[in-house]
Amino acid sequence: MEEMKCYMPKTLKEALEIKSRVDVIPMAGGSDLMVSHKRTIGLTPVFEKPVMIIRNLPELKRIYLNEKGECCIGAGCTSSEIASNTLCPWHVRQAASRMGAIGLRNSATIAGNIANASPKGDTPGPLYLLDARVKLQSVNGVREVLVSDFIVKFRTIDLRADELITEIIVPYSEDDFDYIFWHKVGTRKANAISKITVSQAIRFEEDGKTVADYRVSATATGSKTNRSRDVERLLIGKEISSDVIEAVIAGFDQVISPRAMPEFRREATRRMIRRFLSQAALHPADKVIDTYDEYHVTGQPIPRG
Ligand SMILES: Cc1cc2nc3c(=O)[nH]c(=O)nc-3n(C[C@H](O)[C@H](O)[C@H](O)COP(=O)(O)OP(=O)(O)OC[C@H]3O[C@@H](n4cnc5c(N)ncnc54)[C@H](O)[C@@H]3O)c2cc1C
Repeated sequence: MEEMKCYMPKTLKEALEIKSRVDVIPMAGGSDLMVSHKRTIGLTPVFEKPVMIIRNLPELKRIYLNEKGECCIGAGCTSSEIASNTLCPWHVRQAASRMGAIGLRNSATIAGNIANASPKGDTPGPLYLLDARVKLQSVNGVREVLVSDFIVKFRTIDLRADELITEIIVPYSEDDFDYIFWHKVGTRKANAISKITVSQAIRFEEDGKTVADYRVSATATGSKTNRSRDVERLLIGKEISSDVIEAVIAGFDQVISPRAMPEFRREATRRMIRRFLSQAALHPADKVIDTYDEYHVTGQPIPRG
């Protein structure tokens, strides 16, 4: 049996000190790492470098609001912990609550989901939408980077050798918007990697007609999660009309670049944008325009048009 060196720090300080002098692989829930390093049945995974287990560091397990009212989610918080904590913004809770199956959600962490930099990862969609930042710490200091910049491209992140992700800071919540939307298209309710996930949010001016803020992001539609402020600006300052909706749809169509099942992913994205904006313009009673249950538990298809 191969020997594997494993560090098990008890505090963040200890973990950062190890990271500063040893080239280790941080392991949180291990749900990506154990799969990416698996061998044949009966053989344990092999890691090319020592592993540092960080899943139980107490400093990475907190969820709180900071002095600016931003939601700070510890890097080691699991999907289950996030899904059940109402301090976490609605879009993030939705994504966390639909990841994998229950067992996976009890181990998969938010930092692992970001650091894995998969375009199909569920939490980056809401995190891009809400301008979330990652807090990166080393023995030399702290820096914060937008999640959308931290994920550079497929499987590539802006993490320095001595750093760990310690927190995810989300400056917006559902309270900042009049209507919100999150929808994951998967083959099952649970344990399904997304075919596509779309997050949206809109806020109107006091007149209830002019759009003050609109955001849309989509996962599984390119080499990383997609969002474009230029496309969103096509709507901001205007009233929702079918022409403007079609302009946003056409603009977002240019931004996404799905490789597998491109027409399905493009058409699903178009429909979800069209549905959200046309419903928001009607000022429905419910703030949440789309829910998972509406389409999948009742077995209803995604509406056309
Ligand atoms: C059966 C199954 C189903 C899945 N379903 C989904 C799904 O529906 N949706 C989805 O998005 N994903 C899914 N995944 C992928 C995976 O579970 C998630 O990406 C998960 O969030 C990874 O978190 P983890 O803590 O397990 O990461 P780990 O495997 O521990 O680590 C992943 C990467 O992150 C790095 N890392 C972890 N923490 C830190 C940190 N604090 N600082 C720096 N680097 C860090 C690690 O070094 C590694 O490179 C699934 C995986 C499996 C096996």
